[in-house]
Amino acid sequence: MSRNIAVIVAAGKGARSGLSSPKQFAPLLGVPVLLWSVRAFIEHPEINEIIVVVSAENREMVGRMISKFDNVKVIPGGAERSDSVRAALDFIGEDEDARIFIHDAARPGLSRRVLDDLILSLDHHDAAAPALIVADALKRKRGAALESVDRDGLHRVQTPQAFHLSAIRAAHEALRGENLVDDLEAAQKASLKIGLVPGDQKLMKLTYAEDFEMAESLLTSQRPPRIGMGYDVHAFAPGDKLHLCGLEIEHEATLKGHSDADVAWHALTDAILGALAGGDIGDHFPPTDEKWRGEPSETFLKHAAEMAREAGYMVANADLTIICEAPRIKPHREAMRQRTADVLGVRVGQVSVKATTTEGLGFTGRREGVAAQAAVVLTPISTLTRG
Ligand code: MG
Repeated sequence: MSRNIAVIVAAGKGARSGLSSPKQFAPLLGVPVLLWSVRAFIEHPEINEIIVVVSAENREMVGRMISKFDNVKVIPGGAERSDSVRAALDFIGEDEDARIFIHDAARPGLSRRVLDDLILSLDHHDAAAPALIVADALKRKRGAALESVDRDGLHRVQTPQAFHLSAIRAAHEALRGENLVDDLEAAQKASLKIGLVPGDQKLMKLTYAEDFEMAESLLTSQRPPRIGMGYDVHAFAPGDKLHLCGLEIEHEATLKGHSDADVAWHALTDAILGALAGGDIGDHFPPTDEKWRGEPSETFLKHAAEMAREAGYMVANADLTIICEAPRIKPHREAMRQRTADVLGVRVGQVSVKATTTEGLGFTGRREGVAAQAAVVLTPISTLTRG
């Protein structure tokens, strides 16, 4: 597989931002702007190396900033943006098959989706870049007069701009000494085949101090969390073991049901489906369907957790209450938490299992069956990492 190398250009002085330090190192939601892009590249499974180009005086500071990340190198850049990109190309050296993703550090909102699209586009093009269509009317001011500018075909081009390394190297070589507005300009001048992929409002460039507030609101605008509740009851029947939270527990009776009658996991499955407004367990696994006879309830819980992931949510926490006089839950509680966490794909600290009796009252008090209730909170998966 070919190398995919990210180059983050962070050597600018950011004189227009009015901030005390260059904007690419200023905090955005508590994290230096540069690190947002570093993380986005690190989290992408197909990016192998990251090179950050900084001015000589910031090299040590940035080195400390990224010291906890593997595969991230810091190199000194040049006076102009094009010089910094050429410094990165020199540092990388020759590699026939490598692809390079050149990105401005001042664009912190890089998503997985944009990178995926760029990688795909390079299969058919020498170069690719994210771009947004211009929707507003465009006017050019000439003295006191305004003239309309035809916006047909106009695009706002963002970064990362992606290239086959050998192609962009040759293009930059041919233009050595020229200062370019971006790397795509080198590709244009070399008549490379360029693909545009859909850009992203979140990829906005931080230029002025007030842009930070806009970027923060774009990066935090997420869907709210979702809460769900579930409740289930199964009756005792003659037998010698029953299923609770995926464990087989010896008991003087079993629980009656079409599946393995794991009442606790049924309640939890319904809680997740409820949070998604996705119906109930009976809709997804009808008890009239022979297919589900004796089915381990792990199938149902896994299905609900997968539905949540597909909808862009993860289980933030789950709280289960098992209501019965017997069997005793406490000896099994930690194993129940761990099994449940494993199936949900979360840490054990995100799962609570509690037990209570009803003081001899009602059907659970008369030892006719076991009831369970569950509550879950689903939290949206970061739009940054999902894209
Ligand atoms: Mg049930």
